[in-house]
Amino acid sequence: MAAAVGYRASLVGARNGRKCLRSRNGGRAERVDGMLARTLVRSARGVAGRARQHATRLLAQAGKKNAALSIVASEKIDAEIPASVNPEVAKSKYGFEIVKEEYVKEYGSNCVLYRHTGTGAELMSVHNRDENKTFGAVFRTPVEDSTGVPHILEHSVLCGSRKYPIKEPFVELMKSSLNTFLNAFTYPDRTCYPVASCNTRDFYNLVDVYLDAVFFPRCVEKTDPESGKQVFEQEGWHYELDTPDPSKLQYKGVVFNEMKGVYSSPDSVLGRVCQQALFPDITYGVDSGGDPRNITDLSYEQFCDFHQNFYHPSNTRFWFYGDDDPETRLEILSSYLNDFEANQAGVEKSRVLTQKKFAEPRVVTDYYAVSEEAGQDGQQKAYVNVNWVLEDDVFDLETQLAFGFLDFILLGTSGSPLRKALIDSGLGEAVCGGGLEDELRQPTFSIGLKGVDSSSEENLKKVEDLVLSTLESLADKGFGDSAIEAAMNTIEFSLRENNTGSFPRGLSLMLRSMAAWIYDKDPLEPLKWEDQLAAFKKRLEDETPTKLFGDLIRKYLVDNPHRVTVNLLPNTTLQAELDGEEQGKLDLLRKSMTEEDMEELMRKTRELKTHQETPDPSEALKCIPTLELADIPKESQKIPSSLTEMTSGGEKVEVLSHDMFTNDVVYAEFAFDMSAVPKDLLYLVPLFCRCLTEMGTSKEDFVELTERIGRKTGGLGAYSFTSGVKDEDGVRGYVMFRGKATADKFADYCGIVQDIIQNVELNNKNRFRQMVLETISGMEASLVGRGHSYAMGRLSAMRDAAGGAQEVMGGVEGYLAMKQLKDRIEQDYDSVVADLEALRSSLFHKGSNMLVNLTADDKTLTSIEKEVQGFVDSLPSRGVVGTEQWYEGKDSSLLLPKRNELLIVPTQVSYVGKATNLYKDGQLERSGSSMVVSKLLSTTWLWDRVRVVGGAYGGFGSFDSQTGLFSFASYRDPNLGSTLTAYDGSAQFLKEVKLDKDELTKAIIATVGDVDSYSLPDQRGYTALVRHLLGITDEERQQRRDEILSTTVRDFHEFGEALDQALASNSQVSAVTSKDMAAQASEEMKDLGFISQQIL
Ligand SMILES: [Zn+2]
Repeated sequence: MAAAVGYRASLVGARNGRKCLRSRNGGRAERVDGMLARTLVRSARGVAGRARQHATRLLAQAGKKNAALSIVASEKIDAEIPASVNPEVAKSKYGFEIVKEEYVKEYGSNCVLYRHTGTGAELMSVHNRDENKTFGAVFRTPVEDSTGVPHILEHSVLCGSRKYPIKEPFVELMKSSLNTFLNAFTYPDRTCYPVASCNTRDFYNLVDVYLDAVFFPRCVEKTDPESGKQVFEQEGWHYELDTPDPSKLQYKGVVFNEMKGVYSSPDSVLGRVCQQALFPDITYGVDSGGDPRNITDLSYEQFCDFHQNFYHPSNTRFWFYGDDDPETRLEILSSYLNDFEANQAGVEKSRVLTQKKFAEPRVVTDYYAVSEEAGQDGQQKAYVNVNWVLEDDVFDLETQLAFGFLDFILLGTSGSPLRKALIDSGLGEAVCGGGLEDELRQPTFSIGLKGVDSSSEENLKKVEDLVLSTLESLADKGFGDSAIEAAMNTIEFSLRENNTGSFPRGLSLMLRSMAAWIYDKDPLEPLKWEDQLAAFKKRLEDETPTKLFGDLIRKYLVDNPHRVTVNLLPNTTLQAELDGEEQGKLDLLRKSMTEEDMEELMRKTRELKTHQETPDPSEALKCIPTLELADIPKESQKIPSSLTEMTSGGEKVEVLSHDMFTNDVVYAEFAFDMSAVPKDLLYLVPLFCRCLTEMGTSKEDFVELTERIGRKTGGLGAYSFTSGVKDEDGVRGYVMFRGKATADKFADYCGIVQDIIQNVELNNKNRFRQMVLETISGMEASLVGRGHSYAMGRLSAMRDAAGGAQEVMGGVEGYLAMKQLKDRIEQDYDSVVADLEALRSSLFHKGSNMLVNLTADDKTLTSIEKEVQGFVDSLPSRGVVGTEQWYEGKDSSLLLPKRNELLIVPTQVSYVGKATNLYKDGQLERSGSSMVVSKLLSTTWLWDRVRVVGGAYGGFGSFDSQTGLFSFASYRDPNLGSTLTAYDGSAQFLKEVKLDKDELTKAIIATVGDVDSYSLPDQRGYTALVRHLLGITDEERQQRRDEILSTTVRDFHEFGEALDQALASNSQVSAVTSKDMAAQASEEMKDLGFISQQIL
């Protein structure tokens, strides 16, 4: 989580990697955030978080055939410096002059910084061999208030433009392109519009739609102000009244509602309060995303002015990256820029000022909303966060690298001293504050605890004292050699590997470069690290780490007066006050309205709805450029895989390996099946996985073990994986060690796993209690922030054993089990240890229950055979063990009762889920074309009804083609009943849908885009493993692809029939919602017989 400076970016994702519907902004900032190599050093910490995410997501995705630059190998790339455009041509033909040109060896990239002579627009043109091409347009958009104008504008410009005069070109691209990234972000001081694709034609299509959107959007179009205003009202805010009953008057709007969701999350409240307290005098002192209380103050005129001031080429930084022709980039841009003249006034206005440093530290107290029940429950949990502004302006490179390194040693792993001191203190449940943030103009550092008992003020003060005293003592005593070596290896590994997960590398570089460029600094500097790292190593030797880090800690933290301690306290009446304030404003308006005004408002409400519900004419949609089916490869992509068997002590073990270029890194998984895990211990499995790498062994305490992992590997963790299987009732479940190491350290990697399996220390009550408290605290945050994934998990658990297992391992049932476990630790820890030991002995054996998965090039794979054999030999034999009933799907007690339920948490929005099974209850035949139907349903009917008309932040359908489970879900939804009505209308929509050849082709292409999504070698190797475990063959995948490519309108109608039948005969609702909304829904939908349950 980005505490102080979160920016909004999002993929509204589904649980465990079922299909994701992309949607822009807001939402899961942490996801994108985790993907970013924010600074040279911060990237290392990102990787750790990322590894955890991958493992919990079942990604049945293929990679591209030629994964580009799998790892940056300097000597391999240096030989081929890509040519740039002839400067004369750039200038005379396209109006671009070169400011600077440099080859960046770290990324094998030729970088040319251009300036457009007519407008002053800047372009960074990065040319290399990465096929995952990336483009971005970035504007400086500082604000003076919290009306959320840049955020609303960010949504609105993607709703139609000059060349693309349709309702939502963004959605049309989502429906029809092969993009590997399509989104937009609002930061506190800038707005970014990035796209990426591996297909050149597709890429330029995306670029053109985005350029037209930002410079010529319909939302500010003067010739048709009514239409523009309608966009503003839909995306921003408007009054809604759909019955003559004036008490039903309310505010609606996508951003309005999105931000209500954000403001419901205490973690986001904390981040915002901290940022605003640190920067009271400048733009960071207000919320660029919008405070729901202020959003409704924004007028359409202010909105248009903002666009005119800041969305101008003179205030734009363009970014192109990848293997496409650099001259074409200039050609495309100049065709847009030539319409403009320079606007120096806007540039001046957009400058981001700096905050004057405080003379004295401050303390700020603020509040977050909790339910009355939680208040009475004695859960007086406070957040205490200590924050600093570190510098008057952006860090110089040397300090940035050094401080980033310090940040990692202080907080990077659970064994890091500052993190550990906080957790060990027992003052709170989990660490909050993200440490160093250096994406904004002035870097900050934030750290603290959440779940602090707020009943005495003294307690709060203790947290601040602890942070300061720990830092002081570290400044004097320094860090151990082992910790420094581990940090150095982790950071260097991560820089060299440059593994950005599913996030395009070009985008990661762009965001890194932008953090300097946006403040008029050199955009190339942040991309270079090789020489800086060498210099830093030398400094470490010359000055000694104790002196170097001691000086940094004293100067920037301990002796720095620009410090704010934020105490965020729970408040049981806050929500009612906020609601009252909103109602008060509406009451005022109501009182001032005449009969005619009411009618006029109802007319406008109807008009907006009609407009929203009326699809664009097919003819109009043709303006969106798209590929043709002929551009799509007919063959499904294959991941190189070979399966061999290894014999050890009379047992046979499968070894799956994938020959891919990984620049000397070995990616390795050791997977052990869960068939012998007793059902009653399932809930403990995820925690047990954490214990494996975070409790230490009988030979090393957990700090030493963590450091050894850091010194010897590029990361190692243990994760659980569960899934249903095609045509079976049973479950596939595994506990996996997953990690990476260079080939020369692979023996160490195996040694560590072996050590953990044999000697893990499970009897450490304090450490275990800390992990349980952290788990509970994390689940409480995600129940409020990502309620849809819990609702969908519940619905799946009503239907099959895999869903049931996942529910106890990480759903609401799992949460309730964790709360019981917390008590049992105090009462009878011995029995907990016995359970953990039972898990260990049920899992780690060699034989048919285990599998080794390796990804590296052939030569490396051969060179490590001995180590793999040695590892397997070290494992005990399994002997004859039966398979547990739940694993075979024969234990129905794992299933939740089928019912319609409302799960109550403190929130201002709802997450509404509904599910059925299309194979079992609708007799749908398994076919790849179902994926096309499901995708289209999400991007048309559900998008229009749930998001556009309903005002929810997201709404989508998710289809599991393996099991037939179809689920609907909405995200940050102001409604409940009308969302369910929209779901039920899906069947009719599909049964009657008419698609011309063009629309059908687009839907097919977009589905292929999902299937072929881009991934790096480690992810491809893992994907192949998952397919192997689930028995998904290449032949079957080819068949599904053939079915996707030959989808007809008939498939939509058949799917609609099946959905109709299944929804009517066997479907359930599960929603995470507020107490008030639950009461209202129970009253209004008596026929559903809702059962309400208070969770938080
Ligand atoms: Zn948004």
